Amino acid sequence: MATYENWILKPLNKVVFLDRDGTLNPDPGYISSINQFKFYPDTLTSLSTLAKLGFKFAIVTNQSGIARGFIKEEALEEIHQHICDQFAQSGIQLLGIYSCPHHPDDGCSCRKPETGLFDKAANQHDIDLSSAVIIGDSAADVEAGKSKEMVTCLVRTGRGAKEEIKLKDIGLEPDYVGDSLLDCTSFLCERHASTSGEDD
Ligand SMILES: [Mg+2]
Ligand SMILES: [Zn+2]
Repeated sequence: MATYENWILKPLNKVVFLDRDGTLNPDPGYISSINQFKFYPDTLTSLSTLAKLGFKFAIVTNQSGIARGFIKEEALEEIHQHICDQFAQSGIQLLGIYSCPHHPDDGCSCRKPETGLFDKAANQHDIDLSSAVIIGDSAADVEAGKSKEMVTCLVRTGRGAKEEIKLKDIGLEPDYVGDSLLDCTSFLCERHASTSGEDD
């Protein structure tokens, strides 16, 4: 299991960045219509537990299917509106959905592991990234989080189990690894319980 001793005493600001595909929902690859999108069964309940403790969320997602011509912008907007609606109905405060539409070869500064979208969210919502959390299923999520000194959680859903091995090979260790989003949120709840009073 991951080592998280380093950040036990670190104050968290209760902002959690979430990857989308493979983290919130199954990832069949280039989801191009609302009909192909569905949350994992425990996504909304897991997040609402954290939301009740005052955590807020932002989604940061690579959507190169736009640049590749596999996904229409209107379809992506429709899917993201659906996510916003579902979060709102579950009492989960969503600061925004930030997506990179570019191709990996474009060399943009917003495709994870680049951190442009995290900086944008931080500016818009006055977030100290070094006290925030990221949960994702890929090495790029962990890498982006590490470069902003965030608390990094890898989830083994989606590509996560494979990416865990890849991360070991490159010597990048997430602060926490969980089998599911529920594992990760439970872990954050425990940490919150053991540090609350210090970080509020
Ligand atoms: Mg993902
Ligand atoms: Zn980009």
